[in-house]
Amino acid sequence: MKIQKRGQQRGALRSPFLLTAVAVVLSLVGLTQLNPPLAQLLSFHTPTPTATATPAPTDTPAPTNTKTATHTPTRTLTPLPTTTQTPTATMVINRKATRQARATQTAAAPTATPTPTATQTAPPIPRAARVPILMYHHVGELPPDADALRKSLTVSAERFNEQMRFLSAQDYTTIHIAELINHLQTGAPLPEKPIILTFDDGYDDAYVNVFPTLKDFGFKGTFFIIGAPTDYGSPGYIRWEQILEMSENGMEIGAHSLTHRYNLGQFRASLQDNEIIKGNQLMVDHLPNWMPLFSYPSGSYNQHTLDVLTQLGYVAAVTTKQGITQSSETPLELRRIRIRGEWSMNQFLYWFNYWTTRP
Ligand SMILES: [Zn+2]
Repeated sequence: MKIQKRGQQRGALRSPFLLTAVAVVLSLVGLTQLNPPLAQLLSFHTPTPTATATPAPTDTPAPTNTKTATHTPTRTLTPLPTTTQTPTATMVINRKATRQARATQTAAAPTATPTPTATQTAPPIPRAARVPILMYHHVGELPPDADALRKSLTVSAERFNEQMRFLSAQDYTTIHIAELINHLQTGAPLPEKPIILTFDDGYDDAYVNVFPTLKDFGFKGTFFIIGAPTDYGSPGYIRWEQILEMSENGMEIGAHSLTHRYNLGQFRASLQDNEIIKGNQLMVDHLPNWMPLFSYPSGSYNQHTLDVLTQLGYVAAVTTKQGITQSSETPLELRRIRIRGEWSMNQFLYWFNYWTTRP
């Protein structure tokens, strides 16, 4: 009370100063309250940052970014949850993202050491190449009880030798699927007459008969392994240490599902996931620096199959579709020429000529 009173008294003494101070305060208050344009101006300025911030995330293609980000580590081959129930949500991917992921993977694939130069986001130039990919299964003796299918899948060791001699005499150069993919994606040159030799199912005759013959001719081949029988040590199938030896001696190795019991394209997603993911895991576990390649059992696949392979970082896959024109746009759908066991050498020459000379 006393202080207030004293203040009032003092204030009264300096009334001219007090009056001007009050006037200034009042005018300021008055400005903000009574001047709508200023208020509007202020209120316009505040939302501006949020206004520009909002469109930004929608402009940046979110799926593309996450796709490439999640895919880069998959290339190092430590994929997948070990649980059988793979979350379907992660499997669902839009096709644009799939194509882009596929492109970046394949572009990076053939370089043995993962170079961190894969920053290019420019769409790859579509490229096609005429490269025959021959498809073999058994090479060797027929069992006495062989049925028509087994006969068709079995080329005798002598005939196989003759076919390799022909390719060698015709100056064909065997290449790996990785080299083809590298060419399709980057334009890296291929040898004059390139050819790819593939052997499905991982039978023990791949090691006993094919591997030595290829070495004799200075050729290389690509071998697609069925995970389960090899892992169980089933009779008639190649063993991991043999696969490793072949891989260390210039042979290329691919996966051919876990059991080969299912035509993947005709089965539900969860079964496909199991066949592909578990088969893939066995390859990753046994082969250091393995580059994921796939061969569809019985040539059967659908969009889900392609999506799963893309998710797992597969750079290429071979089908049973006949043809020799390979496209950079469909590296997971490479075409092959089936070599039949019942063919004479003349029939082999006829069909080889047919596929390699037709436009
Ligand atoms: Zn097969």
